[in-house]
Amino acid sequence: MAANPLKIAVIPGDGIGAEVMPYGVRCLQAVGRIFDVQFEFEEFDFASVDYYEKHGDMMPKDWKEKLSKFDALYFGAVGMPDRVPDDVSLWGSLLKFRREFDQFVNLRPCRLLKGVTTPLANPGDIDFYVVRENTEGEYSSIGGKIFEGTDRETVIQETVMTRTGVDRVLQYAFELAQRRNKKLTSATKSNGISITMPWWDSRVLEMSKKFPDVAVDKYHIDILTAHFVQRPHIFDVVVATNLFGDILSDLGPACTGTIGIAPSANINPSGTFPSLFEPVHGSAPDIAGKGIANPVGMIWAGQMLLGHFGYHEAADALLKAIENVLARSEPHILTADMGGKGDTKSLGEAIEKEILAMK
Ligand code: ATP
Ligand code: MG
Repeated sequence: MAANPLKIAVIPGDGIGAEVMPYGVRCLQAVGRIFDVQFEFEEFDFASVDYYEKHGDMMPKDWKEKLSKFDALYFGAVGMPDRVPDDVSLWGSLLKFRREFDQFVNLRPCRLLKGVTTPLANPGDIDFYVVRENTEGEYSSIGGKIFEGTDRETVIQETVMTRTGVDRVLQYAFELAQRRNKKLTSATKSNGISITMPWWDSRVLEMSKKFPDVAVDKYHIDILTAHFVQRPHIFDVVVATNLFGDILSDLGPACTGTIGIAPSANINPSGTFPSLFEPVHGSAPDIAGKGIANPVGMIWAGQMLLGHFGYHEAADALLKAIENVLARSEPHILTADMGGKGDTKSLGEAIEKEILAMK
């Protein structure tokens, strides 16, 4: 269990990120009051395009020093492409956090909550996590082009897998599986990618020896995506390389609802640097400023934060509160993306009230 109080840097960012953040904080405060978890929140205005337009940079020079002392970053969304190009805003903030804070695990829950519509015909009981390697693999930026502009034009981009990098994400995934239902699925493609993926498989096998109580299976990425859609209830923890994990961690949540409700965590399991908890959605310029964004992704990200620090009772209660409110399907409470007539405030406050009514 982490320190109590939990020190949290609140970074609302841009667009709807800043609109949903207050409800995320309020729900954490509410659940903290009931389950005796203390928080120390400090809000930062950087990692936003407003900050960029004032200072010419997304963040102050000493951002790392400022944020390192926190247990976690609670992050809204960044980017307003009409004002600042996405590569500038993203590389100047969120991707810096991931890299410099060595958040080598990306974790996404895929859980079908009552009251949420799924595009799947026969979803069954979906409740699993995708664990994505977040720092190396296929996204190496190593490679090059030769004979550009000629018919001999050739491009190469390398995949980089290191034993340290792979083992540490596998270790995290196995530990998660051990705490849950002791079942782990590895995404591979060793029948087509003949050097790196068989080696990935061998590291999975090696790690599995340390976790004899965890049942392990593996699927090639192509059939695995089909199973996500056709038999998602068979999964518990799915671990994948950077590229495969990128795909699976969008596909999984897409099977369990709208983009407005999905949360995500970028985790540094060692705790050397803070981990980051955020909604999957971006700043959504098309609906920003209207107060109609769904706050559930932000609130659920707070639930992941609690779970990460071992506050499982509080985390379970927060998820239950979200589920209870959504399950009632009250049109005046739900936001438009869920078919309702409510807004950020009605849904955010309903969840906060649901938490406060517990116990
Ligand atoms: P990113 O910034 O991650 O690249 P994006 O900016 O392309 O993503 P989002 O901001 O996630 O995309 O928005 C995609 C679509 O989903 C938009 O039409 C947006 O209005 C809608 N959307 C996203 N988040 C929410 C939300 N919380 N509530 C309602 N609608 C949302
Ligand atoms: Mg965006």
